[in-house]
Amino acid sequence: MNNRQLFLSHLAQTTDFPLMLEIEKTEGIYMYGPNGEKFIDLISGIGVSNVGHRHPQVIEAIQEQLDKYLHLMVYGEYIQSPQVMLAKALSDTLPAKLDNVYLVNSGSEAVEGALKLAKRFSGRREIICCNNAYHGSTHGSLSVGGNEELKRAYRPLVPGISHIAFGETKDLTKITESTAAVIIETVQGEAGVRVASKEYFKALKAKCNETGALLILDEIQAGFGRTGKFWAFEHYEIIPDILVCAKGMGGGMPIGAFISSKKIMEVFKTNPLLGHISTFGGHPVSAAASLATIQVLKNENLIEMVEPKAHLFKKLLNHPQVRSIRNKGLMMAVEFESFEILKPIIDRAIELGVVTDWFLFCNDSMRIAPPLTITMEEIHESCEIISQAIKEKAD
Ligand code: PMP
Repeated sequence: MNNRQLFLSHLAQTTDFPLMLEIEKTEGIYMYGPNGEKFIDLISGIGVSNVGHRHPQVIEAIQEQLDKYLHLMVYGEYIQSPQVMLAKALSDTLPAKLDNVYLVNSGSEAVEGALKLAKRFSGRREIICCNNAYHGSTHGSLSVGGNEELKRAYRPLVPGISHIAFGETKDLTKITESTAAVIIETVQGEAGVRVASKEYFKALKAKCNETGALLILDEIQAGFGRTGKFWAFEHYEIIPDILVCAKGMGGGMPIGAFISSKKIMEVFKTNPLLGHISTFGGHPVSAAASLATIQVLKNENLIEMVEPKAHLFKKLLNHPQVRSIRNKGLMMAVEFESFEILKPIIDRAIELGVVTDWFLFCNDSMRIAPPLTITMEEIHESCEIISQAIKEKAD
């Protein structure tokens, strides 16, 4: 059997029509197939490869750590240099009160930890989340998701959860003194890049302050430079009580975190059995990769260039078939009339060497979230190919 057959026979499938690209090697913004095919990756493995695939500094950090140790002990017992250095580096990117980091393995796990922390700290049981939100696939993170279709088969889910409309100030009245936390994506990703106003986020934070509810911002997709700031909340002049991140954090390695103040995080240690336990959380190889990723983001001026790069994409994709382009930096959604129109364009673009896809809850829009290392010339090249695909399939 070849890999294609093995994929279909033995690997659990998550969708009826997987992209099924076979990739043998990657470098920077490029992915290479077994027969010499070359693709530009415009989705970064869904917002993961922000510093490009296999960034040399990330690879070097991984290799150095491989020569020292792999797993030592469950999270939080031994002092491991990559973990403590990463926690410090993360704190240095954040406002002073976000100085305490709990390292985990993935986005969903970071969300689980944040929800548990909020319940524990506040002593309250109710969580508010947003319509069309995506926070992960485990029971807790799924429970705060905003898409009924995704949840229906798994009920009963976590109780005490209610929904508000993302970006609508009038709905904030649902936040009360019974609310443990509001969890919200700073920029909604799987809803198809939905951006709320600064006024909204300020009103949300004010309402949380007024009621004592904690504000959990999910920057699993929007963090690590993706929107043109290191953290997306920097656009909105608010500070969360708990921040969750993953994806781009590891430069291609699995790692996530929920980050808060020492005061809030300390409730976990007062009774360890009521705390949060992880065997592999903050794996030293992933932590070393993450530390290198932060250094690359800072040293290569990648974040400063997000806005001009996004501007160029928008200019070059201004095509009659494109209905609108929603974006916050290089987190972009290019809207077409329908999935039926979009899908052949995506398929053709892949044939021509550019990989994009659509969103979990928004299949009429093309996802564009390239490595932040993409050059202006490569943006021109990518957009020419997408325009050619549009011309062939939709004009
Ligand atoms: N939150 C957001 C905003 C996400 O985009 C994702 C992943 N798409 C998650 C949470 C879940 O992350 P993971 O797949 O690493 O569990």
